[in-house]
Amino acid sequence: MIGSKLPGVGTTIFTIMSKMAADEGAINLSQGYPDFNPPDALLDLLAKYARGNYHQYPPMAGVAYLREQIAAKTHALYGREVSADNEVTVTSGGTEAIFVALQALIHPGEECIILDPAFDSYEPGVTMAGGRSVHVPMRGDDFHIDWDEVRAAITPRTRVIIVNSPHNPTGRLFLPEDFAELTRIAVGNDLVVISDEVYEHMVYDGAGHTSVLTIEALRDRSIVVSSFGKTCHATGWKVAYAIASPELTDEFRKVHQFVTFTTHTPTQWALAEFLDKHPEHYRNLPDFYQAKRDVFNTALEASAFTIEPSAGTYFQLAGYASIADVDDVTMAHYLTRTVKVAAIPISVFYDAAPGQRVVRLCFAKDDATLREAASRLSAVTHIE
Ligand code: GLN
Repeated sequence: MIGSKLPGVGTTIFTIMSKMAADEGAINLSQGYPDFNPPDALLDLLAKYARGNYHQYPPMAGVAYLREQIAAKTHALYGREVSADNEVTVTSGGTEAIFVALQALIHPGEECIILDPAFDSYEPGVTMAGGRSVHVPMRGDDFHIDWDEVRAAITPRTRVIIVNSPHNPTGRLFLPEDFAELTRIAVGNDLVVISDEVYEHMVYDGAGHTSVLTIEALRDRSIVVSSFGKTCHATGWKVAYAIASPELTDEFRKVHQFVTFTTHTPTQWALAEFLDKHPEHYRNLPDFYQAKRDVFNTALEASAFTIEPSAGTYFQLAGYASIADVDDVTMAHYLTRTVKVAAIPISVFYDAAPGQRVVRLCFAKDDATLREAASRLSAVTHIE
């Protein structure tokens, strides 16, 4: 038998819970994806490019028109000039971008700081690069980062720190002092920052997204990842991108070219023209998703779940301590099988989970779906 390269890894929780939701006929609020379509204008563009002569390999780094539009959007939103040629790479999903970044940056024996709870692909990416993940848990009910703990976790082998704001699964945003500490630590220890910003357009209550791209001191030491799957309600299209300095982009592309080489051509063209013609789509996204969050949370007001409104992402945490004293995997299974609303346990995002009684629910759903799910959840008062 071959020895597994990922002995501690099973099937990702998102696949497990979506399958369970389908098998059980549950409303699927587990894996994060919308139950509505991308905008009609984007679908029309996809049809247009599918009918055209756009079916062969695009450039390895991505269709130039799309990279130019990404650069224009980055400038419009974050005031940062990036070179479409040398600093933008289109990838087949955010997961590819993060994986490629980790392979490009981490040498065998080097370490990567991961702030738990963390998206489940980070650690295997580090492991496959021959590196070691060093987990620093966020603390308390507000999931704040104790930067002294981060400092204490750094060794001469630390190469990378991964950050994620808006944060999956907590819905928390980095605060200005978090960015200040991150910058001090990255510069002081010569680290590269991988900033997973796939939820950049889902930031609520007027807060506005802070991108690592706006931090001058991190300019040459960060790889920023964003995702059209999230931004355009098209998670199955698997198109995302990475922005990094020319030097980091060179290293990133060396790996990317041998992982996926490039990304589905007509989809890139459609996304490019959509960004070009419809910037209002991403500008309206915070209001669009905030309204969904509020529909869902209002419908849950009378429920026994504890809800602290999500500040970003399309995820809402729901505390169930007053309902049941069971672990969150048991609770997620119960909700899926018995209540018929599938949820994600947050313990799976930890190296060592502190045992909170909390599950994650995705509110990227039609309002009717959200109301029905909330009504089912509100019927749950006590579980022995
Ligand atoms: N980002 C999505 C989530 O957190 C899942 C992505 C995936 O299934 N790979 O639900």
